[in-house]
Amino acid sequence: MRLIQHWIGGKPHEAEPERTGPVFNPATGEQTARVAMASVADVDLAVRTAKDALGEWRNTSLAARTRIMFAFRDLVNRHREDLAKLLVSEHGKVINDARGEVQRGLENIEFACGISQVTKGEMSENVSSSVDSYSMLQPLGVVAGITPFNFPAMVPMWMYPLAIACGNTFVLKPSEKDPSASILSAELMQQAGLPDGVLNVVQGDKVAVDRLLEHPDVAAVSFVGSTPIARSIYEVGTANGKRVQALGGAKNHMVVLPDADMDLAADAAVNAGYGSAGERCMAISVLVTVGDAADALLPKVRERMKAIRVSEGSAEDADMGPLVTEAHRDRVAGYIDSGVDEGAVLVEDGRPLIAESDGFFVGPTLFDHVEPSMTIYQDEIFGPVLSTVRVADYDEAMKLLEDNPYANGVAIFTNDGGAARKFQNEVPVGMVGINVPIPVPTAYYSFGGWKSSLFGDLHMYGPEGVRFWTRSKVVTSRWPDPSARGKNLGFPQND
Ligand code: NAD
Repeated sequence: MRLIQHWIGGKPHEAEPERTGPVFNPATGEQTARVAMASVADVDLAVRTAKDALGEWRNTSLAARTRIMFAFRDLVNRHREDLAKLLVSEHGKVINDARGEVQRGLENIEFACGISQVTKGEMSENVSSSVDSYSMLQPLGVVAGITPFNFPAMVPMWMYPLAIACGNTFVLKPSEKDPSASILSAELMQQAGLPDGVLNVVQGDKVAVDRLLEHPDVAAVSFVGSTPIARSIYEVGTANGKRVQALGGAKNHMVVLPDADMDLAADAAVNAGYGSAGERCMAISVLVTVGDAADALLPKVRERMKAIRVSEGSAEDADMGPLVTEAHRDRVAGYIDSGVDEGAVLVEDGRPLIAESDGFFVGPTLFDHVEPSMTIYQDEIFGPVLSTVRVADYDEAMKLLEDNPYANGVAIFTNDGGAARKFQNEVPVGMVGINVPIPVPTAYYSFGGWKSSLFGDLHMYGPEGVRFWTRSKVVTSRWPDPSARGKNLGFPQND
């Protein structure tokens, strides 16, 4: 069976791994490949390789780094369909959604193409007589990224293009559930002209992650995944002296006021609740209906749910694919059972679909009359399950958001500008949508939640990403009058 290897020093690792894990096609339930599981020695090799490449790379000119990023951007653009197909085959998401993932990843590469613009320092002349002061942003060294299964191309692209453009060398540990997109991306980076060893990929699990967290030559760790792991990555990484940003799980609420455009809100609820089978950290999982909004909204949501085409993801007309693994499908089905047991009203039940195929499918599911004490409200389900919590007024909706431990994304649907403005001002959540259900910031802002959805001080990518992957230095200098010597009539080439 095909073996998906590590990528170290600009090529696939050759040695047969001591351990492997299975990779499935979630739509059929078949195992399609084995993935290498890195040992401590494999991680050490990747870090050493990255360290060896660092000296040359951090001193490579901004012009040369920019050219590589542009070439990478063109290659990813040319291979976007290949990447999208890999996502469909290992993650299970539908092809259109996979294309969107690649597009959002590309936008982060495009931001990294502007590296020379975003890493400029500041300069003050004559801070004292004949003394100048200036600041510069320098790379951290060897840095690492650990990424989740749900965006196997995009989330790594949130990290390594910018980190590398900043002059760091990188070790990526992608999810072991869908590891192929990282390898294709690393190949494209190499074709773009990236020197060997600047980007390395180690496949694997906790063994690899633990080693990265304790390795003395790893300066920083960027993590995206579930909250319990994010919390522990932050604690262990910072205790080991590393800079860490650890993005965790979510429970995103969509507040619907009675004056909202209910057709727009119903479209949004269905798209953001069931898109990617709910396996998005920015998926809507709770509808908070204010006053009598539920009575107008839920019939429209149900009507739209009936039109969702659940199918194997490569079909062009598929709306929703399977969940990533059998275990995850069973976990999601277990949550539906618990919602029923705890007294929520099951309006649409996705469980009958489970028996219809060997793939890991669960159909779109809708609950009404969910109480905040119920497990389906408290836990991140990460599946196509929407819970409706009915509240009397805006203040009760805000109290729910204040009390919730997660604070990744939130949305409000209303036609009242004053209510929306009050909401954006006081809601304790990192990313806010106003009549927009999935408010993922574009690549030139930064992505991140609050509370248990992010551990660390800096958000991901964009301007805060630049701060995360660099450290600043301030120079104070005094020079005698400068004199330029020698003859060179050529135009400087910046190499
Ligand atoms: P996960 O936490 O299980 O895994 C994330 C990464 O950590 C993977 O690379 C995995 O191999 C590794 N890992 C797993 N268990 C570990 C352990 N015990 N010790 C060390 N490393 C370990 O998450 P997942 O299931 O792959 O992804 C889904 C989760 O990610 C959801 O909770 C989702 O909300 C979250 N997520 C958050 C964001 C965000 O930006 N906040 C984005 C995408 C996904």
